[in-house]
Amino acid sequence: MRRPLVMGNWKMHGSRASVGQLLDALIRPEQESAAEVVVCPAFVHLQQAVDVCEPSSIAVGAQDCSHMRSGAYTGEVSAGMLVDLGCRWVILGHSERRQYHAESDGLVAAKLAAALAAGLRVVLCVGETQEEREAGEAQLVVASQLHAALAEQASLTDIVIAYEPVWAIGTGLTATPEQAQQMHAFIRKELVQCEGVIPERVRLLYGGSVKAANASALFGQQDIDGALVGGASLDAEEFRQIIAAA
Ligand code: 13P
Repeated sequence: MRRPLVMGNWKMHGSRASVGQLLDALIRPEQESAAEVVVCPAFVHLQQAVDVCEPSSIAVGAQDCSHMRSGAYTGEVSAGMLVDLGCRWVILGHSERRQYHAESDGLVAAKLAAALAAGLRVVLCVGETQEEREAGEAQLVVASQLHAALAEQASLTDIVIAYEPVWAIGTGLTATPEQAQQMHAFIRKELVQCEGVIPERVRLLYGGSVKAANASALFGQQDIDGALVGGASLDAEEFRQIIAAA
């Protein structure tokens, strides 16, 4: 059995005040749920989130980390620093990192190795653009991102994969449950090739315009084990409904 996982990626949103309000609304009272819940605020709000979530079962994750352990890397935050802070998770390879910060598959693989070595649990994001889908290359792109990141990793027990089609992120254009399921089934099949991975045990999240209104239909699919939620996770009530649907 794969426990559902619902993660909120708060991206570069919020202030100490608004993050405080959002966290309060999520933990007071904390809802009973079948799903494991993780919130991923910006770096500067991580300590606040760790402190507020401490008495709850909500875990905290970062949205990125460095591929280096320590040293003269101005502006970077290492996986070890995140663990030291009380973070349990990190999102890696998000399409916004790939697109706006030119993160290559090689860099994502190095970050993954650093995060796992530090003891973080990783959500690796993969997904095709609109043009790639229209060219019939969606599976090819996803498979190549997946294998580039996962090949040659020492251990992959703490890995979660998020399928986030770029055309569905922040656009209101959700993949249909059938489109998402089809890609998730494909990803699970591809995982057979990865050493040290038991494909049936790996949780696969869908991300891209997930809302309370479409969460149940997505979660009803056999290979969709939860969601990586952007915009809708900034609204406590909406996020709670998504968690309840899992
Ligand atoms: P939206 O839910 O806002 O489309 O964002 C999805 C996402 O990028 C989560 O990482």
